[in-house]
Amino acid sequence: MTENCLFCKIISGEIPSNRIYEDDAVYAFLDIYPASEGHTLVTPKKHFSTFTDMNAEDVALLFEAARKVTAAVEKAFSAEGSNVGINNGEVAGQEVPHVHVHVIPRKKGDGGRGIKSIVWTETDTTNLEEVAKKIRNVL
Ligand code: 5GP
Ligand code: ZN
Repeated sequence: MTENCLFCKIISGEIPSNRIYEDDAVYAFLDIYPASEGHTLVTPKKHFSTFTDMNAEDVALLFEAARKVTAAVEKAFSAEGSNVGINNGEVAGQEVPHVHVHVIPRKKGDGGRGIKSIVWTETDTTNLEEVAKKIRNVL
């Protein structure tokens, strides 16, 4: 529990939420300003600010819970699919600095788009191998 963290307070029950799922490592609850009906947030109970701060075990537990919740959210709202994703860091739109996976159910004709509608910058694609090398070098 990190002081002054909104989601730590939700997980501990200090701030009320609409619980969807809970296990030893994960808590999932409805987003208070949903992008579509059933929009759910899946959070690790341990406080990590960003996804890249997490360790392998906690990531595995978080994403297995996210998978279960996604299946349930789609079933409950007869959704044909969903967007499942993390805003990782303030620059990427993360407003609450406690990791959470957004599960947003989608239906045909809802007007929404896919993940590349979040950002699109023109980049040089003539040497993708150079780009890949840059990333591999720091892995
Ligand atoms: P982020 O922008 O950090 O990826 O997402 C934060 C999400 O938390 C937003 O979609 C926002 O609607 C939701 N949110 C903010 N405050 C509260 C709250 O007090 N309760 C709940 N359930 N959701 C919240
Ligand atoms: Zn927290």
